[in-house]
Amino acid sequence: MPFRQMGFGEREGRHFVVFFVIRIFPFYDRMDVAIIGGGLSGTLVAYYMLLADQHEQNVFLFEREPLQFARGIAYRDSNENHLLNVPAAAMNLRQLPPGDFYHWLQKNNQTGYSPADFAPRNLFGSYLKELFERQLAKAKKVNVKVIADEVIDIRKTDDGLQILSRSGRSFHVAKAVLANGILPPADPFALAPQVLRSGHYQSNPWNFRYLNQLKANQHVTLIGSGLTMLDHAVELLNDKGNFSVTAFSRRGLLPLPHAPYEPYHFPDYTIVPVEDIGLLLKSIRAYYHRHKDQGLDWRDLIDRIRSQAPQLWQALSEVSKKRFIRHLKPYWEIHRHRAPQRALNVIERAVKEGRFQLFRGSIRSAEFKRSQLVIQLGGARGSVTLITDYLLNSSGLQQDISLTSDTLLKNLLERKYMIPDQTGLGVETDHSGALSCLSGEKNIFTLGALRRASVFECTAAKEISEQAFLLSEQLLQR
Ligand SMILES: Cc1cc2nc3c(=O)[nH]c(=O)nc-3n(C[C@H](O)[C@H](O)[C@H](O)COP(=O)(O)OP(=O)(O)OC[C@H]3O[C@@H](n4cnc5c(N)ncnc54)[C@H](O)[C@@H]3O)c2cc1C
Repeated sequence: MPFRQMGFGEREGRHFVVFFVIRIFPFYDRMDVAIIGGGLSGTLVAYYMLLADQHEQNVFLFEREPLQFARGIAYRDSNENHLLNVPAAAMNLRQLPPGDFYHWLQKNNQTGYSPADFAPRNLFGSYLKELFERQLAKAKKVNVKVIADEVIDIRKTDDGLQILSRSGRSFHVAKAVLANGILPPADPFALAPQVLRSGHYQSNPWNFRYLNQLKANQHVTLIGSGLTMLDHAVELLNDKGNFSVTAFSRRGLLPLPHAPYEPYHFPDYTIVPVEDIGLLLKSIRAYYHRHKDQGLDWRDLIDRIRSQAPQLWQALSEVSKKRFIRHLKPYWEIHRHRAPQRALNVIERAVKEGRFQLFRGSIRSAEFKRSQLVIQLGGARGSVTLITDYLLNSSGLQQDISLTSDTLLKNLLERKYMIPDQTGLGVETDHSGALSCLSGEKNIFTLGALRRASVFECTAAKEISEQAFLLSEQLLQR
């Protein structure tokens, strides 16, 4: 395809950060790749391709929010209170020396942090951006072009894929990577249109604009009780506006705290993949009880199991997977996604001051009355009425892809280029991340949250970097 038709040379938009490596390619090459999404996942895939720099290859990296390039949802924040949930020295990425991020902090005058500290997330975003830019400047064969545009559709052609963007451009590539990341949660079914449109409800948990709308002493209700809720609660409770906060979730469980990290040597580690979730749980408990008196902390064991998660998950029968999702997942989440003590201290203090409360239940009904929301919560322990000024859906990422409102994903589902997984955790993929599709070709790949059904643990930087590296090797193959 001629150079012009590929969208090159068109105006990119003045405010966008665009990296150019100018080269003239008269025809689209069999190896050209599109990466859709420039958060951690997409940036790392491109980074590893630049690092390998194996063949002449074009990579089109699309990011619809270009100012957030290399940061995505997690690492964009400028709020110093939004901390990584992994100690600085352990935020390691594949192919980089252990502690690289921590050393970067030291070199960049962030000397106030120890290796065990939880640094602000935006610093990790700056680190990632610098890694990418440095490698972009070094690479001689791989040519990454960051495109400030949203991909809205992909079509399979006789010789590859046609990528269509919101601004009307079209790109031909051999392979595409869906690195579009975390999807915002769907609105609870019990919220009537009157509430959704009241101006007192926000469905996107990764947008902090609602704070500008609040007045001093107002009350905010947060749906969810995990790390996303914690970010908002800490923000609201630290604000000068003297806000009070109520959070609720089906189980009413808060993330458990991190503890100072001390490496543990695992003697006779015996947890092996089995089909039955009951047996797996039994062997984990037995191992813990055998070793806790010799210094095994549950956190060490959870982290050890996490590194084995794909094998353990894949061995479980479909029935066991469903049982795990229904009954055990919330407990796994609070042990696995732990919170820095500093954030939990804010909650503890607010509980004592009467400014934070946590309920167990889900929304039965909600009404908008005289500028406030009246919410009925119901649960195993009865019902509660909440009167609140603002309701925010901070229940974490949406995993059931069939509920998505994302244009690109809806198009891909409609064309049967992707198939929702039966577990409701993302889409069907093979071991390499290739999407299962009706026609059977393997030229669209994914990583991160959409792969949860096949590997279960895949949303943290550690797992994403592993997946991005393996995927880059696939994309480098002719
Ligand atoms: C609040 C939060 C805190 C976290 N903290 C940690 C932590 O401390 N440690 C850790 O290891 N992990 C953490 N994680 C987990 C993990 O690191 C992130 O989930 C990870 O950054 C996900 O990256 P991603 O690129 O897959 O997705 P995203 O960050 O969602 O990025 C996807 C990008 O794709 C773009 N995009 C989407 N669709 C399109 C399209 N059609 N066209 C063009 N662009 C598109 C979006 O604009 C976005 O920038 C955290 C996650 C969250 C949400």
